[in-house]
Amino acid sequence: MHDCHREISRWLEPLGVKVRIDSAGNLRAVYAATEPDAPRLLIGSHLDTVPNAGAYDGILGVVVAIRLLEELQGRKLPFAIEVLGFSEEEGVRFGTPFIGSRALVGRLDQELLDAQDAQGISVRKAIENFGLNPLNISQAALENDTLGYLEFHIEQGPILESLHQPLAAVEAIAGQSRLEITFSGRANHAGTTPMHLRRDAIAGAAEWIGRVERAAQAVPGLVATVGRIDAKPGAANVIAGEVRLTLDIRHSSDDSRTRAAGGLIWEAQDIAARRGLSLRESTLLSQRAVAMEPFLTEQIEHAILKTGCKPHRMVSGAGHDAMILAEKVPAAMIFLRTPGGISHDPAESVAAEDVEKAIQCGLHLLDQLAASPEFHKSPTFTKG
Ligand SMILES: [Zn+2]
Repeated sequence: MHDCHREISRWLEPLGVKVRIDSAGNLRAVYAATEPDAPRLLIGSHLDTVPNAGAYDGILGVVVAIRLLEELQGRKLPFAIEVLGFSEEEGVRFGTPFIGSRALVGRLDQELLDAQDAQGISVRKAIENFGLNPLNISQAALENDTLGYLEFHIEQGPILESLHQPLAAVEAIAGQSRLEITFSGRANHAGTTPMHLRRDAIAGAAEWIGRVERAAQAVPGLVATVGRIDAKPGAANVIAGEVRLTLDIRHSSDDSRTRAAGGLIWEAQDIAARRGLSLRESTLLSQRAVAMEPFLTEQIEHAILKTGCKPHRMVSGAGHDAMILAEKVPAAMIFLRTPGGISHDPAESVAAEDVEKAIQCGLHLLDQLAASPEFHKSPTFTKG
């Protein structure tokens, strides 16, 4: 990450922009406005990634931000632009995502600083080892002159490709529930137990998995996934006595998501009762949907239209730094088409023409915002 910061600083230097690394390890660089005390617009994404990753998730959003500053060619806007390269978005090392962006909204607290990696090194210690002072985390917090946050990011899914469109305005980041469901029956001999005298946990689980898929297909925008199944005792000649499954369920409406999750738990109870099984369920995660800021999202649509493309609106099924920033400031996202919908894999890619369109879109957007006094002059625009 030190090498990464050094390299990006080299790109920013010719623009006369000073780079600092805040106490949470985020790279930050401010491009000045026409007036010294003007408010600032944030543009960025994350610099970390997953093991065996692609080359574009996160970093592309930082590169586009820097390219936008280059394209301004010294031209100043009525607001400053702060380029952000977030640390620890993916949560690979400490199991908790968005560590860098949490510091900006004041949510990198003592509990999170105490979280440990697989080697027993805490976030606090890792920050010290990196050469930063965890006691200064509060200095990473957003300034109250922040107008908003923009993030360019690859879609990481197949929707834009299927629509033959390079760009989308993200209207919301889907809420997410993660549950664990356990069907318990009776393990028994596969040869001697007749079909009508079985309490087969795996057959009950299989019936329920089919219901999960059908339920998601019936609700527009709903996605539901049983991603893991563990059957015990797990032998070819033994009827399964216990099956544990995970359910991941997402939707842009919290109401639709919780209603669907409730309905699927009810179906599991129904299946269990009919088959003489017992059922346990626990919620591992329940994360609310986050709406992107309507004014900025509309402006993004206008800007996409000006590049000659159709402005598609979509919901992000994955979480992003914009979701965290949205707690404090107006936030919006622009998605770029992802060939094959492939991400978190070395085959992840993006078309150069699509990046060109994203840069054009960003320049139109900056001009539109510069021409909107209601955006950069109104102190009520920034959330409390
Ligand atoms: Zn990402």
